[in-house]
Amino acid sequence: MLSVILPAYNEEKMLGKSASVISKILEDAKIDYQLVFVNDGSKDNTWSEIEKAAAANKNIVGVNFSRNFGKESAMFAGLATATGDCVAVMDCDLQHPPEVLIEMYRLWEQGYEVVEAVKRSRGKESIFHKASAGLFYKLISSAVKIDMSRASDFKLMDRKCVETLLAMPEKNAFFRALSSWIGYKSTSVEFDVQEREEGESKWSTWSLVKYAITNIVAFSSVPMQLVTIAGVCSFIFGIVMGVQTLINFIMGKSVQGFTTVILLLLLMGSLIMISLGIIGYYISKIYEEVKGRPRYIISKVIGK
Ligand code: UDP
Ligand code: MG
Repeated sequence: MLSVILPAYNEEKMLGKSASVISKILEDAKIDYQLVFVNDGSKDNTWSEIEKAAAANKNIVGVNFSRNFGKESAMFAGLATATGDCVAVMDCDLQHPPEVLIEMYRLWEQGYEVVEAVKRSRGKESIFHKASAGLFYKLISSAVKIDMSRASDFKLMDRKCVETLLAMPEKNAFFRALSSWIGYKSTSVEFDVQEREEGESKWSTWSLVKYAITNIVAFSSVPMQLVTIAGVCSFIFGIVMGVQTLINFIMGKSVQGFTTVILLLLLMGSLIMISLGIIGYYISKIYEEVKGRPRYIISKVIGK
């Protein structure tokens, strides 16, 4: 059975439609399915729309959050609720074309364990949005060491991968990157991001910035090491400046006391920065330990 997880936040206008469109496509393809709608604390009638859809179709399951916890949490709640042998995650605004689901399901039947849908085109976006998304994905890609520039949350995973993700104790999980990080036999299909028919995007510029920072920090300690690098740079600069100040002092061109002040300032500044960087490094190691990610993931063992 295929479970499809659909996080929904203020989607009353799209819910009924996506429920019927997706069920129709899966029924036509003769795939045994289950739709798991997770209502992420919507302020509109999304939950009653889910109840209505669930009453009309016994393959629909609804999960209701007590308040808005964000899409990442909604996806994980869906993963924990879904009972299918393979589980797909997609947006419930039909921006992820449901026909692609069939293609992904067939690839899973051929033995792929993670099927990622990658964006062929990013749909309509402002230049600012495109540029900042570009920078974000560059940073994340180097942290995960997998190209994420076209990644989306639209994925299909085998039961095994779902269990692995659910077993991870970290709370600040970044689904899109974590599902690549776990590895397994994976492949990808391309899709064009569709335009939203009803409702509006839930992401403000500010929420995107917050999202980017949380996820970069969840996957990389590079920002912390920047302090060390800055410290080393200012140390080198300090030596150059120090030599120049000393020469001035020896040649008797400097004001009384000026040399000492400048030398102390340069030296202390760079030393403090380097020490902060070293402390930061230990904090980043503590952070990694606290996250408690598994040391390795085994996909299969053969023989006795
Ligand atoms: N969503 C959610 N919780 C949130 C924000 C969004 O569950 O706090 C869901 C939303 O209902 C939709 C999906 O996440 O199914 C993608 O959101 P949206 O379409 O607003 O994002 P965009 O397509 O503009 O990136
Ligand atoms: Mg959308």
